[in-house]
Amino acid sequence: MPRPRQACATAAMLLLLGAAVRCADVWPASVPAGAAGPATAAAEPTRGAVRALPVQPAPVASACTGGPGAPPADPAPADEDLQVAPDSLRALLARHRNRRPDLAELVEIGTTRQGRPLLALALGRGCRRDRAGAAILLDGSHHGDEPLATAIVLDAARYLLERQGRDARVDRWLQELTFWLVPLVNPDGWQARLRFGRGGRKNGRDHDGDGRLWLSEGVDLNRNYPFRWGALGQAGSSSRPAHRSYRGPAPASEPETRALMRLAEAEHFVGAITYHVGAVALLVPYTIDFARSPEPNEAWSVASWIAARMPRHPDAAPGIGFPVRRKLYAVDGTSQDWLRFAHGTAAFLIEAGLRPAGNPAARARRIVRSVRPSWMLLAERFLSGPSIDGYVSDAAGRPVSAEVEILETELREGELWRSRCRDGYYARYLPGPGRYTLRVSAPGLAPVERPVAVGTERARLDIALGVVVAPALACLDGVEPSAG
Ligand SMILES: [Zn+2]
Repeated sequence: MPRPRQACATAAMLLLLGAAVRCADVWPASVPAGAAGPATAAAEPTRGAVRALPVQPAPVASACTGGPGAPPADPAPADEDLQVAPDSLRALLARHRNRRPDLAELVEIGTTRQGRPLLALALGRGCRRDRAGAAILLDGSHHGDEPLATAIVLDAARYLLERQGRDARVDRWLQELTFWLVPLVNPDGWQARLRFGRGGRKNGRDHDGDGRLWLSEGVDLNRNYPFRWGALGQAGSSSRPAHRSYRGPAPASEPETRALMRLAEAEHFVGAITYHVGAVALLVPYTIDFARSPEPNEAWSVASWIAARMPRHPDAAPGIGFPVRRKLYAVDGTSQDWLRFAHGTAAFLIEAGLRPAGNPAARARRIVRSVRPSWMLLAERFLSGPSIDGYVSDAAGRPVSAEVEILETELREGELWRSRCRDGYYARYLPGPGRYTLRVSAPGLAPVERPVAVGTERARLDIALGVVVAPALACLDGVEPSAG
């Protein structure tokens, strides 16, 4: 099954969500076979349902207005976020959505190995809800034994929803961006931890098919992504199912991995943070040894900018903020590297703190508050620039999913970074002010080059191709695509 049709299937699902989806993606796989490894389960990364969950009748705030009064400057993390469990997550997210259905949408992006829903909250774009413009992904708990990571993402949702209408910065983020929050990527692992009192790092894959999950079973979801999956042999992940870093039988073999990939295929996130717990660090792609990062690596510039503005972390040594690193130890098949490779996302992994010891509740509060600025800075750095975004269309004004290159950046892993299928949107952080040349190309068309001078701000450059692109090559407006 070729990937473009699958991307369209995803877009079709999003169409059902009421998003402005127009899609007939034109590209071959954006993960070359060489990078994706064996074409097994990875050949179907974008299949499956993405669906909005119904809005329950509830008191509704009037559209696009916030509550009265000024919000507290630095609110304490809520116990409700710190104490959430897999079985209470849906109710918590539904309450958020029901309070502000004008701003929030609750979406089921997939189903876990054991049948639990994978839930996302999409927040933003003010009253328009058109999902145009840039999207940012925040996810937590790829490892089910790191619940603090989930609390950090839930805290972001609460912060945005409670301050909208009362905080000009938040209003701007929600007007110009969509945040996709996936608080719990691995509910099966978390649930196993609750049952056994330990373990839970890996997902719910039942290797021996006996219908029971044993402590040693499961796949390490953050070794299961298709970019350089298993590339380091036993050094970056393990081929042994009982190992804590078991990479799975094939790239993207796990439904949780594929759900995140499907979402990324639809949104083309400009920035992303995946939260983990176990150290204090901000990891920049490519994390995997021997993968050659773009040059210059604007993701590193963005990470350094964020790290320099982070408050002191309770677990860090005095004077040390968030160290910016490529890696802490050898890994392969990670989510942030796949996002970077597939879509050019400035995708970071934040190790949000050491594992809890002592007074876990007080510690958790301190850590959530301390890490909170990370996603704000990611948003702020894109909106304040230097960065660039715009829409690619054909001469008839139809959106085109085209490759958008910045010629001053050398891509060294065969990356193919395209404008978004449904609306032709592209977005990139830039490493600094300067003169850049964008080259836009699509199969069968002469590439179009546009020079652009960018200062310290966000530049907007829409690119209209001089030809009418055949419907098979353009994103079709108003036509509901086949589900593939
Ligand atoms: Zn982790």
